[in-house]
Amino acid sequence: MKSFDLVIVGGGPIGIACGLEAKKKGLNYLIIEKGPIVNSLFNYPSNMQFFSSSEKLEIDDIPFISKEAKPKRDEALEYYRRIVTSNKLNIHLFEKVESVNKSGDLFTIVSDKETYTASNIVLATGFYDLPNHLNVTGEDLPKVSHYYGNPHFYASQKLAVIGASNSAIDAALECYRKGSDVSLIIRGPEVGKRVKYWVRPDIINRIEEGSIKAYYNSIVKEIKEDKIIIVSPEGETTLENDFVLALTGYRPNFDFLEKLGIELSEDEKRLPNYNPDTMESNVTGLYLAGVICGGMETHKWFIENSRIHAKIIVKHIQSKQP
Ligand SMILES: Cc1cc2nc3c(=O)[nH]c(=O)nc-3n(C[C@H](O)[C@H](O)[C@H](O)COP(=O)(O)OP(=O)(O)OC[C@H]3O[C@@H](n4cnc5c(N)ncnc54)[C@H](O)[C@@H]3O)c2cc1C
Repeated sequence: MKSFDLVIVGGGPIGIACGLEAKKKGLNYLIIEKGPIVNSLFNYPSNMQFFSSSEKLEIDDIPFISKEAKPKRDEALEYYRRIVTSNKLNIHLFEKVESVNKSGDLFTIVSDKETYTASNIVLATGFYDLPNHLNVTGEDLPKVSHYYGNPHFYASQKLAVIGASNSAIDAALECYRKGSDVSLIIRGPEVGKRVKYWVRPDIINRIEEGSIKAYYNSIVKEIKEDKIIIVSPEGETTLENDFVLALTGYRPNFDFLEKLGIELSEDEKRLPNYNPDTMESNVTGLYLAGVICGGMETHKWFIENSRIHAKIIVKHIQSKQP
């Protein structure tokens, strides 16, 4: 069985930052990633543009050069991939961690390929794997997706986009511009306040001119093969429909965290218990890094403000070593 000072679960931007820092500080480390390098970013919409400027997405001050101030997804893939390959980081791709158990001071990590032991673990598994479900009849139909890729797919189709935040608004605007007949279904009274400041006026203008039909204070009651039924303060409305993009957010894998013994707050935020000075959770030697630290508050942590976790964690691990 291979043994490490540190095993990092998740090869997203923050897991990679942890691996790079561990390598620089001479720790014997391994990153385990269930998909390709930065799997979440790889699965983001193909034309996605970050709200952060490129220097704020940099790891360890390695320059991130992008054509525009705010980089596109493909540029971020280039950047993080080059960090992994140029620094020859020790990363196992397409390998999923299935369980982590602690016995004495040692963790045993079981993946779908191998078993390892480690003195320390970083969990940097993000939140993008588990969508928030609508829990309505028809949600499992093949025409419904919780992930948006490319607008071309929806051209000349009747598309319902559910949600009011950046992902939903970007999808609605892009698909409208590629010829979809877009209905936007929003649970609250308005387009989300956190929508990018340069995108919000665009969607509001498209709604006001009638190019995109918005249903405010509305929820989806049922999805059928060729229609959806929504409920608004005015009552029930049936819309003809070919595809549904339910972009209602994502959540960390709380079951996985609880199985590892990490305490979660009892309220709806489900905040994991960790010390912000060290990023160590209530399980000694088990650290949290990146967006997973926010529990259900998935907007609280992002690359820009969580890339510092890597240095904090590695410094603490080093301070414990003889
Ligand atoms: C549309 C969109 C736009 C965004 N724009 C910005 C922005 O402009 N600026 C910004 O700072 N942030 C932005 N974010 C947020 C940012 O992408 C995330 O905060 C960031 O990806 C978090 O990095 P992470 O490494 O914590 O998690 P992730 O990037 O989600 O990485 C987690 C990794 O863990 C892997 N994994 C999960 N479970 C396992 C397992 N059991 N075994 C092995 N591997 C596993 C996953 O495959 C994944 O690769 C955006 C997010 C979205 C959705």
